[in-house]
Amino acid sequence: MNDELKKLLDLQEIDLGVEKLQKELELIPVQIDALKAKIREALAACDSEKQKLTQNQVERKNKELEAASQDETIAKHEKALNSLKSNEAYKAMLGEIDLARRTKNSIEDSILTLMEEFDVHAKGLKAAEAEAKTSQGAIEKDIRALEEKAAILKGELEVELKKREAFAPSVKADLLSRYDFIRTKKKSRAIAPIAGESCSGCNTNLTPSTINEARKGRDLVTCESCSRILYYSPAQPQAAPA
Ligand SMILES: [Zn+2]
Repeated sequence: MNDELKKLLDLQEIDLGVEKLQKELELIPVQIDALKAKIREALAACDSEKQKLTQNQVERKNKELEAASQDETIAKHEKALNSLKSNEAYKAMLGEIDLARRTKNSIEDSILTLMEEFDVHAKGLKAAEAEAKTSQGAIEKDIRALEEKAAILKGELEVELKKREAFAPSVKADLLSRYDFIRTKKKSRAIAPIAGESCSGCNTNLTPSTINEARKGRDLVTCESCSRILYYSPAQPQAAPA
């Protein structure tokens, strides 16, 4: 194989390693965000239970005020009873008092129901808080592990980038810029193995003479369709990288 081609393949190996590390690194903040969203969800569940409790307390306070108001009505009516002269007015006032008592009873029933509901929501809050605490602990551990992984990957990436920096000057300058140009333009590998009778970079069929030239390995052969540098590798005739 052509020496320059061999160097380019080695360079491509390094670049593929760099890309792999970069992709892995890019993924980590996304993973961390997803985990943080889970924590927010658990805390939101607690807030929702807390709101139910507050709402319950407000409703209960209102009902208590309503009951007190009925008490006042009853007391006022009872006081008025003595001053009433006619039987009819007396009867009517007794009816008013009875109505106020029944209204008060029904309000007190509502208060009891609210108290029962308060207990349910209080238990719900306790459960949500316990759940949030447990999952928050586990998630924070996962986040720390991801941050540690990111630090390791960053270190590995630095090593690979230095390796690239050291290796690149060994490739002829014009060839290197051609390689970098294709790689940047195609956003994928610049050197493609011939797969069967086609360029594995773009899947275009190659002429027999192109394949023949590549097989000889003396000069660098380029795919006319995608400009990738081609190489013939008997060891991996089916290789079809993207
Ligand atoms: Zn091609």
